[in-house]
Amino acid sequence: MRNILIVGAGFAGATYARLAAEDGLNVTVIDRRNHLAGNAHDHIDANGVRVHTYGPHLFHTSNSKVFEWLTGFEEFVPYEHRVRARLPDERLAPLPINLDTLELVFDKTFATSSEAEMFLKDISLEIETPRNAEEYLFSRIGVELTNLFFRPYTAKMWEMDLSEVAPSVVARIPLRFDRQNLYFPNDKYQGLPRNGYTKLFEGMLQHDNINVQLSRAFDKAMEAEFDFCFLSNAIDEYFDEAFGPLPYRSIKFRHEDRMREPSVDAATINYTDHSPYTRETHWWLLPNQQERPRETTTVTVEQPCSYVDNAFERYYPVKTQDGRFDAVYEKYRTEAEKNPKVSFIGRCGTYQYLNMDQVINQSFQGYEHWKRRALA
Ligand SMILES: Cc1cc2nc3c(=O)[nH]c(=O)nc-3n(C[C@H](O)[C@H](O)[C@H](O)COP(=O)(O)OP(=O)(O)OC[C@H]3O[C@@H](n4cnc5c(N)ncnc54)[C@H](O)[C@@H]3O)c2cc1C
Repeated sequence: MRNILIVGAGFAGATYARLAAEDGLNVTVIDRRNHLAGNAHDHIDANGVRVHTYGPHLFHTSNSKVFEWLTGFEEFVPYEHRVRARLPDERLAPLPINLDTLELVFDKTFATSSEAEMFLKDISLEIETPRNAEEYLFSRIGVELTNLFFRPYTAKMWEMDLSEVAPSVVARIPLRFDRQNLYFPNDKYQGLPRNGYTKLFEGMLQHDNINVQLSRAFDKAMEAEFDFCFLSNAIDEYFDEAFGPLPYRSIKFRHEDRMREPSVDAATINYTDHSPYTRETHWWLLPNQQERPRETTTVTVEQPCSYVDNAFERYYPVKTQDGRFDAVYEKYRTEAEKNPKVSFIGRCGTYQYLNMDQVINQSFQGYEHWKRRALA
């Protein structure tokens, strides 16, 4: 076992590549895009702003092993993400819902946290066993907050009404009865690579045993040239959709030149309206910008769509209440297991939505498992 092919220079591919290279294997990494870093890619645009090409990527984890490994390649600057929702009257309310959000939406003042908690209990509906996300939210936050913060957003993001979505999709929504407004309050490590994700990937892939070839698409004939292949490309595409497509939601990004708005104090603003757009990102509020912010800056607006309408850019696997696409994925997984020379990895290889830290952790485990069998 000497020559390894890795398809995809995103977090999954780069993690496998680095681990294999450090074990003395010859690793070739290919990516059909002309850049490293997969969906975490970033670049400096004409306004001098560091923009994440495929939408804001905020690194957060409580996994020390993952964080320590990553920071060995690039220093991280601390950054705690905050999100606001733009209310119909243009005021900005913190998300996830906290005491300030409740006061803004209901135009009330709560003397104590328990007063707010009682208020929310009063406006919630009594539904013992919620059958879907709508009922779940009604039972926790009532009709008004559900319709304001969740119904339009869900319709745009998933092209589904809340009543069609499984309760599990919203079952972990955090609610706070204090004024704490961090988006990831429970993660021990939160930050951004000081010189951007692309630079981080240059560090991960900088190794004598790694050969990177960009703008190179995978072709099954390549399998014969290598002893083993790790594939982070879409598993259904690999099998020419033999069992049917595995659908994804995608996003179209519109980068706008805007004057900096000093009143904006959170990098992401979610929309509560019925337009096709879900949120905007004010990049200048992220701490790893290269230079002092100029007056004209870049704000990126997101419009979710089907991956079919966005050149098959696969972002979020579609998880339905009946799990029908997971069942299709299982067929592909079973088929893939028959080929002893390949292993599917990462988001599109395993048809899962995974955060960056989860992909890295999964790759650590996947590589160790493979190594025990292949390099014994
Ligand atoms: C809009 C958006 C926002 C996100 N925000 C966050 C966040 O804030 N925090 C967080 O932790 N995670 C976030 N994520 C998740 C993060 O993007 C993923 O965890 C990560 O990108 C997964 O890495 P991967 O290597 O599995 O896939 P990818 O990054 O998609 O890399 C796969 C690579 O394979 C290449 N490829 C595919 N097919 C072929 C082929 N046939 N031939 C050659 N190359 C091929 C692709 O070009 C791509 O570069 C976000 C994702 C999206 C879509």
